Amino acid sequence: MLTFKNRTALITGAGRGIGKAIAETLAKHGVTVICVSKSAESCGATAAAIVAAGGKAKALAVDVADGAAIAQASEALLKEFPTIDILVNNAGITRDGLLFRMSEADWNDVIATNLTSCFHWTKLIGRPMTRARWGRIVNITSVSGVIGNAGQANYSAAKAGMIGLTKTLAREFAGRSVTVNAVAPGFIKTDMTTEFVNNPEASAKILEAVPLKRFGESADIANLATYLCSEEAGYITGQVFNVDGGMAM
Ligand code: NAP
Repeated sequence: MLTFKNRTALITGAGRGIGKAIAETLAKHGVTVICVSKSAESCGATAAAIVAAGGKAKALAVDVADGAAIAQASEALLKEFPTIDILVNNAGITRDGLLFRMSEADWNDVIATNLTSCFHWTKLIGRPMTRARWGRIVNITSVSGVIGNAGQANYSAAKAGMIGLTKTLAREFAGRSVTVNAVAPGFIKTDMTTEFVNNPEASAKILEAVPLKRFGESADIANLATYLCSEEAGYITGQVFNVDGGMAM
């Protein structure tokens, strides 16, 4: 069992998939979880399920592509919660296409949702965390940000940007015992990948590049993210952990 000393966590994209699994796993360890998603329905359902299972959770609908909305939400949260000790930047979208066919809107949407959101949340939630001299920040990047992926220039750039942000903030916050790490999933079975996973031809092609020859589960990411948020992970910072069945060896 991992140690969490009465901690509170904010998880973005907690309405579905990986973020939901991270919120549920942290809650099972006694962490109070603030579940953020775009729609009130999805974060509301995650929080309700956690509370029904005996955990502590709050739902908050925030469009993370909107910096002003993040500022407003953070201000209200920091009045309600004395400290937010753990931040998991997980919300993300894809708008795939080869570069010559990629619109500027698709580029901007992916950068705003996947990368700029991390800048805003970390700046707002990270400040009181550094003052409290304890914190954990986990950024959910992607194998696409580590090795690149044709058709995902916007997404790979955003995810690689998260890695640079992780390493820089690990250095900036280290003196305050706030660790910053990244987890880079490969192909995980969620709504984001249904299209590929349910297509036998596409999934066979993807699995050629996965040494473990299967897709991952949200729990594979949640287990590592939860460990990185625990007391026990206090000597790990600035790292990127690939959880991808061996894709990016
Ligand atoms: P998912 O099932 O599509 O869920 C995405 C979550 O992000 C949803 O809860 C969604 O909110 C939220 N979200 C999206 N845009 C948002 C916005 N503008 N504001 C607030 N919330 C927003 O995705 P997933 O597969 O769990 O992916 C989670 C993270 O892992 C992403 O960053 C993704 O890039 C990364 N990742 C996934 C895979 C994979 O194979 N699945 C691989 C590598 C990396 P709603 O529920 O309200 O729509």
